Amino acid sequence: MGKFSNAMWRMLGAQATRNQSKSVAMIEASARHDEWAQGLSDGEFASAAGELDMDTEDGRVRFLALAREGGTRALEMTPFDVQLQGALRMLSGDVVEMATGEGKTLAGAIAAIGFALSGHSVHVISVNDYLAGRDAKWMRPLYDLFGVSVGALSEKASRSERQDAYACDVTYGSVNEIGFDVLRDHLALTADELVAPTPDVAIVDEADSVLVDEALVPLILAGATPAAIPNSAIFDVVSRLKKKHYEVDADGRNVHLTDEGSQLVETTLGGINLYDDEHVGSTLVHVNVALYAYYLLERDVDYIVRDGGVHLINASRGRVARLQRWPDGVQSAVEFKEGLELTEAGEVIDTITVQALIGRYPTVAGMTGTAIAAGEQFRQFYGLEVSQIPSNAPDIRDDEPDRVYDTKANKVEAVVEYVAATHETGQPILIGTHDVAQSEELAYFLERAGVTAVVLNAKNDAEEAAIIAEAGRKGAVTVSTQMAGRGTDIRLGGSDGDEAAREEVLELGGLCVVGTGRYDTERLDNQLRGRAGRQGDPGRSVFFSSLEDPLVTKNITSLREITPISPDGLVGAKGVETIEQAQRIAEAAMLTLHSNTWNFNKQVNEQRESIVRRRMNILKTDEAARQLEELEPERWAELSQTVDETVLEDAAREIVLYHLDRAWADHLAYVADVQASIHLRALGAQSPLEEFHKLIFAEFTQLVQEALEASRTTFTTATITNDGVDLDGADLHRSTMTWTYLVHENQFSAGSQALQGIVGIFR
Ligand code: ADP
Repeated sequence: MGKFSNAMWRMLGAQATRNQSKSVAMIEASARHDEWAQGLSDGEFASAAGELDMDTEDGRVRFLALAREGGTRALEMTPFDVQLQGALRMLSGDVVEMATGEGKTLAGAIAAIGFALSGHSVHVISVNDYLAGRDAKWMRPLYDLFGVSVGALSEKASRSERQDAYACDVTYGSVNEIGFDVLRDHLALTADELVAPTPDVAIVDEADSVLVDEALVPLILAGATPAAIPNSAIFDVVSRLKKKHYEVDADGRNVHLTDEGSQLVETTLGGINLYDDEHVGSTLVHVNVALYAYYLLERDVDYIVRDGGVHLINASRGRVARLQRWPDGVQSAVEFKEGLELTEAGEVIDTITVQALIGRYPTVAGMTGTAIAAGEQFRQFYGLEVSQIPSNAPDIRDDEPDRVYDTKANKVEAVVEYVAATHETGQPILIGTHDVAQSEELAYFLERAGVTAVVLNAKNDAEEAAIIAEAGRKGAVTVSTQMAGRGTDIRLGGSDGDEAAREEVLELGGLCVVGTGRYDTERLDNQLRGRAGRQGDPGRSVFFSSLEDPLVTKNITSLREITPISPDGLVGAKGVETIEQAQRIAEAAMLTLHSNTWNFNKQVNEQRESIVRRRMNILKTDEAARQLEELEPERWAELSQTVDETVLEDAAREIVLYHLDRAWADHLAYVADVQASIHLRALGAQSPLEEFHKLIFAEFTQLVQEALEASRTTFTTATITNDGVDLDGADLHRSTMTWTYLVHENQFSAGSQALQGIVGIFR
């Protein structure tokens, strides 16, 4: 999938190195100002910082000296040169690669302070609320010393607490919280209800996780409307299908009816034709949704059932995703499948993808342990450059060669044997699995072999941080699903920092990381490996795979027979080659998927921005009033006799907003409809993408005009008094209850698949 030639990559590499030598020179030069920085009293510190001209080299060099002194004084951490290097590259808007344990939290805070001193407002965006809160609290003394205000968002925060947090120079928040604030502003009826500020600078922690793995996840704001009753006849017939009635694609992302299946469904539903105009956009979509829920979504892999409800597992983070729902059809289908009570259906009020959310920031920088491998995505989708920051202490982790087995059973046996033997010595072991079911299975086999493991997975995410922190204790065996975004430090010997315990584990060789199957991208493999050997500690990593792993079966269609080289099923170099080939195919498919989806989403995002601008204008000015006055001057004059000018303006605003929001929600529903059936509609026509753009464009061009017409009608017919406008009386109702959720699936992963309703989630 190389968009860039090798020569180009080398050139870009050279660029990154040049930038580093510039940083290094500045850091060296900053030592000259150490004495000045040390001489400042706490009281003088902030004003000295405030006087720096960050646009000049001298200003930046002095800033580095202040950062060094500030870290020492406020946090008892003197920033390492590599942390300053990372901060400098972030100040230039790069994504920096810094290995796990190198201290990205401090480097990110220094960069944030740097931006704030040049007059920017900064959002430090993390993967979850826990990390946002922890990092803001941890770094606060440093911010205080610099006189830079800092706040953090949390799910529980009230509107005014959120407004306060955003009013700070630097705001820590999870991508969800920030995104949902942006969406919830769509409910504001007056300007002072607005929460999300104008985006300026974003520093994205775990940048690859957020900007690549989760980029396409839509954040959704939904409102309650009278519950649409899902058609149980459809669920019912789908639940009784046999293998011959449906077909799952080789990559396991899509499922559709076979001819025989179509016939059965059509007969059962009363002799309909699924593919005629009446049913293509509705019944067939519902059937596809049900197929997806029944035959692709797996309990304990994609979701768990707890407290009588379905809880989605966030695939890229391996934990229960709170407040997440699938689109209503899928959610209901899964609930039906599990015999649970169906939850209420809702209407999408507004939605934005993570990628579009980040795209709103004029300046974006990021940090992660694995940036280089995502370089192409960063460049292609965000225009971001990547800088590799050297580690503070040399990395002495021993990455053992992969061990590939013929069958899954042989692989599991080998893992258990390896873990048991290592555990005998007392060396702590961290085992990475792909999903909850695999974690539990492995823990069971380990237990049988006499090794008790702590299982960290989506079922006990509350204790996650504490458990991970102890994974470096002598004798610990920890099994965890994906490590991406589990931003907790693993200290050898345990989190209490006991020196003797640490020494003992150092003697044993540090942390041993065991992967139970390579991931769909090498980046995730490296994230797991990176847990061992932090800050120059010893450590080792090894991956076990099998030719029956989903990575292989999903990506390699015709696998050549590979004969094991030993009785335990080890397949040697050919097996390793196969695994690596499968991974390259998976990575390329992912990239294509990302760019396809982005192409589909781009237009809707632009439309959204245009609606948001219009909405802001209505909120902050008297535009609505002036428009209605112009359209209906007589009505305006008549009302002015009895109704106060400001009340009338507010009423006009409320009417126009109502219809604009109504029109946008209808538009989103239309977009979803078109998405679900585009591959059918586009049959024989142009490419699905072109067809999609054409339909969506045509619909949108009428939207604003129609909303205005509807506003005009309401303005002339609704009752308007000094108490305001009676929308309810006019039978116009705003959603009374709203909620937010994320959708972990991709509507567009199968551009070529004709009978495509709903398609795979990320695995
Ligand atoms: P990362 O996010 O890069 O994995 P963290 O920010 O969690 O790393 O930091 C890892 C550990 O290193 C923390 O325990 C922190 O206290 C420690 N640390 C970071 N920077 C320094 C420093 N300059 N001096 C001493 N300890 C540091």
